[in-house]
Amino acid sequence: MIYLDHNATTPIAPEVREAMLPYLTDEWGNASSSYRFGSKLKGVIETARANVAELIGAHSRDLIFTGCATESNNAAIHAALKANSKKRHIVTSSVEHSSVLNYCMALEKENYRVTYLPVDHDGLLKIADLESAISDDTAVVSLMWANNETGVLFPVDDIARVCKERGVLFHCDAVQAVGKVPVNVSKLPVDYLSITGHKFSAPKGVGALYVRRKAPFTPYLHGGHQERGRRGGTENVAHIVGMGKAAELAIKKLPNFEITVAPLRGALEKGILENVSGTELNGHPQKRLANTSNITFKGIESEALLLLLDQEGICASSGSACLADSEEPSHVIKAMKPNTGASRQMIRFSLGQDITAKQIATVVTSVKSATINLGIKYV
Ligand code: PLP
Repeated sequence: MIYLDHNATTPIAPEVREAMLPYLTDEWGNASSSYRFGSKLKGVIETARANVAELIGAHSRDLIFTGCATESNNAAIHAALKANSKKRHIVTSSVEHSSVLNYCMALEKENYRVTYLPVDHDGLLKIADLESAISDDTAVVSLMWANNETGVLFPVDDIARVCKERGVLFHCDAVQAVGKVPVNVSKLPVDYLSITGHKFSAPKGVGALYVRRKAPFTPYLHGGHQERGRRGGTENVAHIVGMGKAAELAIKKLPNFEITVAPLRGALEKGILENVSGTELNGHPQKRLANTSNITFKGIESEALLLLLDQEGICASSGSACLADSEEPSHVIKAMKPNTGASRQMIRFSLGQDITAKQIATVVTSVKSATINLGIKYV
């Protein structure tokens, strides 16, 4: 198998699995119990919290463990709205992940007004659009750091500055940024920031939400006193430990991330764009993550090409894995290139640090033969 879908999920690192094992076997206590068999697990959770906090430059106290980034995103927007109950306006973008977009659409049915900021042909956001969208009625701005489909980076520093100047809470979905670019909330005036473990070698089903010390917070999940009363539910110790270990590894690997994956991504793009007819890059060539490549194959349905690649053992995708079973074209590419067929004729390749140059060469060859099988003529 050649796995080029790291933006969908990543393999669990062996060190992460090792770290988790005791908590899936002998150490199965409840961290909230008063006897030591359970309560000693509190320390284990706090070590993991410190590691995850370090990954994003936060204080441990400001980090809440959640079940996933979908929950973190919903919880952040919910908290901001609860804190500003008279304000009925939300600003987001048309290219957010479904965990933000679909929550915003649900809120529109509850009489909230949502501005979905446009992006340009390269997937970039204009700060002037954000500035003119914010009004006295705006409760929260929710914008992502890096796009999951194209890797395009939003200008988070400028977004945070504008939100601060205008006195509006800022939530950032940093799921795809963490582990790929430096994320440091001590330098970025963001109020809420969401991350998830499974995008950086932890298991699926554990996420975190950073909440700035003075930012308002009302729990999204009401329940017990876990997470200092901010997120009810018995702690998923094994997964939290896994996320902590993965954060430790991500901190070590980050300095080499771009150096390792950028040349391979470059080789993949060069190979495809120069050798396969009717191809075009989607997303700004520079202002994007080093591991992500989104390419249009004119005249070819994404799903047909993915099927042929799958038969060769190559895993890639046509957008977000969360929407892979829907018939809808990519909303991200549609927002960037509205009057073209690109949103139905594209593939996202997302690399990890373990990909080899040989694998990339195989992928280029397989992509070319798949396009021949699908009727593309070469002279
Ligand atoms: N936000 C972005 C940008 C994502 O790519 C994803 C995952 O695909 C999520 C949020 C949701 O994360 P989770 O699977 O942990 O709910």
